Amino acid sequence: MNETITQNTIECHLVNGVGGDPCVYLRSLHSGEACLFDLGTLTSLSHKQLLKVTTVMISHTHLDHFIGFDTLIRATFSHKKELCFCGPKGVATQIQHKMRGFTWNLIDDDQIRYVVHEIDKEGCTQSFSLGNIDGFELHKRGRKDSFLSSSTCPLPMAPQSFITDATKEARIEGVCLDHGIDSVAYLYQGGLRFVFKTDEAARLNLRPGPWITELQQYISANQYSELISVDGEYWQTGELAAEVLKYSTPRLVGYVTDCLFSWNNIGRIKGLMDHVEVLVCETNYDCDTRDKATQNKHLTSKQVALIAAYLKAGKLVNFHISKIYHEDYNAVITQSQDFFATFSKMDEVAVKEEIEQELKLVSGIKS
Ligand SMILES: [Zn+2]
Ligand SMILES: [Zn+2]
Repeated sequence: MNETITQNTIECHLVNGVGGDPCVYLRSLHSGEACLFDLGTLTSLSHKQLLKVTTVMISHTHLDHFIGFDTLIRATFSHKKELCFCGPKGVATQIQHKMRGFTWNLIDDDQIRYVVHEIDKEGCTQSFSLGNIDGFELHKRGRKDSFLSSSTCPLPMAPQSFITDATKEARIEGVCLDHGIDSVAYLYQGGLRFVFKTDEAARLNLRPGPWITELQQYISANQYSELISVDGEYWQTGELAAEVLKYSTPRLVGYVTDCLFSWNNIGRIKGLMDHVEVLVCETNYDCDTRDKATQNKHLTSKQVALIAAYLKAGKLVNFHISKIYHEDYNAVITQSQDFFATFSKMDEVAVKEEIEQELKLVSGIKS
């Protein structure tokens, strides 16, 4: 399997291949800025690649997901880069402890500044800032409740929560999954995509012009009540956009790792990243090792394929395959991709039935 995929405006690279520590390097082809999903070993990334990182999305802090932290800060601290971290509850304190484990007397007062967004099970986020100026004290920056109430998105689809802007053109949402501990799954969304409805504009006697770009800029900035002039006539941006623009936010990459196969987890994943273009998903075990997967709260090749088909994912990328398959990781991948090809052809009801059957087998296993 190719370990770098290009999808629309982004490039997605499995830093340690399919069997090494979990880490995905995601680079925007527009801005050149990069994000990391998880912090497994980073030594194969160049200094230049590490300097492009603006945001780090940590699923949880099991050793193999967090051991690259030191490599990242070593490459970036001298450049006064303000890094943003997202992760489960408690990750801000863990980052604070990491930073306090080193001596920092030789640097400028404002040299290191980090922002950390923690997401909890209910979908609420708590943000912190910390820096070397005061010995990495945690400063609360604000709390956001989940923007979806249970009435708009009933459980188990909720909660999900907006976390942060990854780059100027992307944003990230996350949701906590059950891995015995919280493990956050993430969705990386691109900037808005617009389609100009030529026929509608003609019906309204609106001639195409620079106002279309202006209108798109207002909508991208969530400004719906500004006034915009078209051929001398003033329109409210929200009303005009509703008439002549179709727009959507592309769900470019979903990152799911370390979770139990359960309806609650599957529902949360679906609520966050239905129709995602690329799903990068852990595949710790082959389909015959359901017992171990369940006991360790991981997924099998078949379970991953069921989730991907249920999401109607465009592509499935398997990774984080257990070292027990080191002689032939591709066998596990092929197995999962074959299942995915089969399940993708089924309708949603049939996929749900397959999921129910698999869940029955999972529930019979002692954890
Ligand atoms: Zn793991
Ligand atoms: Zn884990």
